[in-house]
Amino acid sequence: MSDDVELALRSTRVVTPEGVRAATVTVVGGTIEAVLPYEVGVPAVDLGDDALLPGLVDTHVHVNDPGRAEWEGFWTATRAAAAGGITTLVDMPLNSLPPTTTVGHLRIKRQAAQGRTHVDVGFWGGALPGNVKDLRPLHEAGVFGFKAFLSPSGVDEFPHLDSTQLACSLGEIAGFDGLLIVHAEDPSRLTDAPAGPAYAGFLASRPHAAETDAIAQLLHLARRSNARVHVLHLSSAAALPLIAAARAEGVRVTVETCPHYLTLSAEEVPDGASEFKCCPPIREAANRDLLWQALADGTIDCVVTDHSPSTADLKTPDFATAWGGISGLQLSLPAIWTEARERGHQLTDVVRWMSARTAALAGLDRKGAIAPGRDADFAVLAPEDTFTVDPARLHHRNPVTAYAGKTLHGVVKSTWLRGQRVYSEGEFAEPKGRLLTRTG
Ligand SMILES: [Zn+2]
Repeated sequence: MSDDVELALRSTRVVTPEGVRAATVTVVGGTIEAVLPYEVGVPAVDLGDDALLPGLVDTHVHVNDPGRAEWEGFWTATRAAAAGGITTLVDMPLNSLPPTTTVGHLRIKRQAAQGRTHVDVGFWGGALPGNVKDLRPLHEAGVFGFKAFLSPSGVDEFPHLDSTQLACSLGEIAGFDGLLIVHAEDPSRLTDAPAGPAYAGFLASRPHAAETDAIAQLLHLARRSNARVHVLHLSSAAALPLIAAARAEGVRVTVETCPHYLTLSAEEVPDGASEFKCCPPIREAANRDLLWQALADGTIDCVVTDHSPSTADLKTPDFATAWGGISGLQLSLPAIWTEARERGHQLTDVVRWMSARTAALAGLDRKGAIAPGRDADFAVLAPEDTFTVDPARLHHRNPVTAYAGKTLHGVVKSTWLRGQRVYSEGEFAEPKGRLLTRTG
């Protein structure tokens, strides 16, 4: 152990890649130096039985800043993240104005974020019908990959790709071994949701087949181009056999799902409760069980929030026209942990889904584990403590949530970024987040 240890944290439950154990973690220069025995003789912050987790890495967040900063923003989103134990987020390229579809636009986004982030922030680029020439420059400027839609995105400035355009973008991205992340719903399978407050009509307008058909097409083109692809926010378990089969033949595909698909169900959505509206939709409880099985067997790689807020006035009681997006940043860890523990999973599983694998997806090799050489990013969690979700205590800009009134297990006590405490018991430090660029 070196003499210049700046911080040591001791807990009876440190979640390491090898499992949960009592340990003391030392930090030098913002980096984890060592994971030592619990009883080692160094002065340490004693966390008792609170669990020490690697900070979560959320690779699917819509910050919407600049341009729609009244929906969210770097300041508020990263406070919500820190309060939820998330130490790194990667921002989606749309809903901000401009969208992150050229190097110039990336520069504008970075300017908006600079000095205003409580956690580390990276950026995805966007693949649009007309910007194939921008993809390589964006890759070289440090975006972590490219997002494309196969159906309308919800905002006019971010049009979706048809199959020819998708093949063209994939070919370009394969040329530099980049990553394409895809909103996979087939527009020919979508219908207009009926006006009104009933959830069933909206759900029926975005059937399982919309996802399975789009994913089948994506896998077909990924196989042909040998490009790396990632299926965003999988909702339908019907697509799982396709994905498993493609992976078994060597297609380079990864898959994420979200806390709302894993912890909420169509049956429980009240009439007019458009805080539950997102695309693809929250489906039936039986489908949710299959998603959990796929997480357990590894067909689904990771869990991310798809935090996609708007102003409260756009969440009208009409499921046809209300904004589609769920705000889950601050609650994703307790929501998942609450359901996971009831289904017999451990904290190590949650950390694998929400930190290790998401860090790997984005190539963030300094994140995602409590291990020597990694950034000293931590979440301190009281796993057995419970709280009831009060929208007024959430830190994202518009306090709309599908989790209001739910009692969840797992209280985030503090959050640490490169060895510095950025959040503790409801209080935030000055912003210490950095803007990240792809290194691999
Ligand atoms: Zn999204």
